[in-house]
Amino acid sequence: MKTTSKSAALWDERSRLVSSGSAAYSSLVLERGLGAKVWDADGKEYLDFAGGIGALNVGHCHPKVVAALREQAGKLLHTSFHVAAYENYLSVCRELIAVAPWKGPKKAVLFNSGSEAIENAVKFARGFTKRRTVIAFDNAFHGRTLLCLALDGKHKPLRQGLGAMPPDIHHARYPYAYRPPVGVSPEQLTAHCLESLENLFRVTAAAEDCAAIVVEPVQGEGGFIVPTPGFLKGLRALCDQHGIVLIVDEVQAGFGRTGEMFAIEHDGIAPDLMVVAKSLCGGMPLSGVVGRTDIMDSVATGAIGGTYGGNPMSCAAALAVFEIFREEKLVAAARRIGETVKKRFDGFRDKYDIVGDSRGLGAMRAIELVSDKKTKAPLPAASVKQILHACEDRGLIAIKAGVHDNVIRTLMPLTISDADLSKGLDILDQSLAEFKVS
Ligand code: PMP
Repeated sequence: MKTTSKSAALWDERSRLVSSGSAAYSSLVLERGLGAKVWDADGKEYLDFAGGIGALNVGHCHPKVVAALREQAGKLLHTSFHVAAYENYLSVCRELIAVAPWKGPKKAVLFNSGSEAIENAVKFARGFTKRRTVIAFDNAFHGRTLLCLALDGKHKPLRQGLGAMPPDIHHARYPYAYRPPVGVSPEQLTAHCLESLENLFRVTAAAEDCAAIVVEPVQGEGGFIVPTPGFLKGLRALCDQHGIVLIVDEVQAGFGRTGEMFAIEHDGIAPDLMVVAKSLCGGMPLSGVVGRTDIMDSVATGAIGGTYGGNPMSCAAALAVFEIFREEKLVAAARRIGETVKKRFDGFRDKYDIVGDSRGLGAMRAIELVSDKKTKAPLPAASVKQILHACEDRGLIAIKAGVHDNVIRTLMPLTISDADLSKGLDILDQSLAEFKVS
């Protein structure tokens, strides 16, 4: 919703200058941010429940991140790690290896985006196993590069019309408790999904040809879907049985969001490779793969890398982020935020006909909007937009998710104050209350 003239003029420029293929969750034009607040080009203040799509768990322009960047900018901007190493790259790898929540020898490597790290995780898995097949899940999102597009569990608008996708990629069912397949109860869902994967091994892609299973421990873009109990453990067991590399995508769920440093910790299983990005770096571009040394050392030297991956500025910011997590106890903060949001979202489900489900883990929470609670028919995307615009008018940025674009999710900075959290939730409450089908 265009609120004022400078923002409106800049938004028009965006339409003229930028490819219309670039997704737009809002029509805001922002100029400044601090903590959980941002200001648009006309000075209007917003609370930010989107956090740059989950990249800002430490908040906008955290003073420690800004100071680290200022200091680094005067020292070294770039060498390309392949030309010459530098200490803060190594320090980020050391931190990642230390927080990776499983035992055993590990190594790490850094990239720029989540997609790039996923691509490289698959390369490691293929190099290690000398196999080609990769399995991903319905509703998954792993990025927009070609390999990631092929992994994504949503065809439209991501892949449609974009030609041939990389081969040897198959999708299995992810346990979506709110929308189980006909005749399958939520209690049967874990077994059903694991069985559908074994069926895939029998019918389509033999397990002994399978290099990797790529899975989000809580699906992000898919609609904040928390898998049913035992599903991730079941995947681990299948990977062990067949020598498949388990790649856990913590790009959106990681770095405290779910009330553990990594979402996989809730299930207590060890991935073989873990992919991180977004809130690793307080708003700067940085991603990484951390994983078993034998897998990370299995590809030819030169097969992995890129000019900018793990550049010194991003590494400086990431080191500040690790410090902030420790000092400000952001993982515990996520649990507190999650409890507050859960209470409110459960309340929305009880009082509004259009709120069909309230779900999540820690501060990774969502409501799923429906036209009819009995049939669970998704609320049309245009109506969801209407609600999000109403939030914006009142000063709250919130974004959608879900294969039906009918989920509203919370990715607010974990540094948000109690007062701002309540204020944002009140705005969402009011916007749901006033909603009428137009
Ligand atoms: N994996 C997950 C789980 C994500 O949520 C995203 C981005 N939303 C990606 C991968 C891709 O990350 P990027 O946009 O940095 O390429």
